[in-house]
Parts: sequence; C-alpha cells; structure tokens
Amino acid sequence: MTSTPTIWDLHGADLPVGTLYGIGRNYAAHAAEMGSTIPEDPMVFIKPPNAYVPSGSAIVLPEWTQDVHHEVELVVVMGEHGIAGLGVGLDLTARDVQAKAKQTGTPWAVAKGWRGAAPVSRLVPWGDCGSGPWTLALDLDGEQRQHGNTASMERSIDQLVAYVDAVFGLRPGDALFTGTPEGVGPIRRGQRAVATLDDLATLEVTFL
Ligand code: MG
Repeated sequence: MTSTPTIWDLHGADLPVGTLYGIGRNYAAHAAEMGSTIPEDPMVFIKPPNAYVPSGSAIVLPEWTQDVHHEVELVVVMGEHGIAGLGVGLDLTARDVQAKAKQTGTPWAVAKGWRGAAPVSRLVPWGDCGSGPWTLALDLDGEQRQHGNTASMERSIDQLVAYVDAVFGLRPGDALFTGTPEGVGPIRRGQRAVATLDDLATLEVTFL
C-alpha cells in the first residue's frame, strides 16, 4: 500500500484532493490527431484521488503498459464557493490499454486512473489567475512536445464546471482536467517532464 497526498498544494489552504474529472476531446486538433471529433455532449471520465501526485514526484510507469502518453492540461480545482485555483497537470494515459478499451467498449478507468496518473502543479489562487486565455506547454527532457492555448478549448471552464456539477455534483477539492491540445506522445522511463501554465504554474516530474 502506498498513499499519495490528500491535500492540494494551494498556499496553505486545507483543501482535500477529491474526485478528478477528465474532459476528453476538448481541443479540435487533439481530437483530430486521435481520429476523433468533438462530441455533442462533454465527454467525461474519472480518475480517483489516489492518481494525484504533486510537482517534484517520481512517477513509476506501470509494468502493464508499454505506451504511457503525456497530455498537458489546465486543471481547475473547486473550492467552497466556485473555483479555488488553477494548476497545470498531466492527464497521463496508458494509450495501449485505452486503445483496447475503445475497441472492446470497456471503461477507461485503468488507462486513465492508475496511481500517479494525475500529477498537478501547485495551484494558483483563482483571484491571481487573470481572465485568461492561458498558454500550456510541455517539455520532455528539455524538448518542447506540446504547446497550446486555452482559447482553443471547445468548451469553456464555465461550461465544463456547469456540466460536471449538474451531472455529478461538484464538491470542494474536486478537480477538472479540461482536455489537452495536440502533440500528445509517449514517455520513457528516465525522462523528465516540465509543464507550464504561462508563468503562473510549473509542474516538474520524472518517470521511473
Ligand atoms: Mg486528457
């Protein structure tokens, strides 16, 4: 048994890590690179709280997958009254396992929800985030792999929060991974990823 942090890294705020909601296909160029289109309704999947790890973590890539992909995303964390803060996260995805799940029509829980599959930076308090849009970038071993802007999101933060809240009921500490821009690709053991949200937030993780 191993445990991961249960409190968000938000400047001393005591906010529990709740349910992590992932939004699929929220950037047209990424949907296209996956051979998909923008869904009529938001596409939602769930990662358990134990998938979360903070910046600075060494993430063990599972032995049952040979193809973990990076997906850099804007992460929205809810507070008692609306949005508590924003961060940058990686929606780590076992692409081979996900492809099999798509073929067989089975859930994505294993492909998306494994321990360590949701690293997120320290959060920036919502009041310090400005009004956006924000630029997302991901470097792997110092080489840029993803670069996008939240202006390209098909559905806005407000639309996604409203939808997820209406369906599931958002609670303080719940988070939304709001989808990835194009450029997803594989991660190898020994690599180091640095993800940024403008100059507001930085996530740094290594892979074992
Ligand atoms: Mg994603």
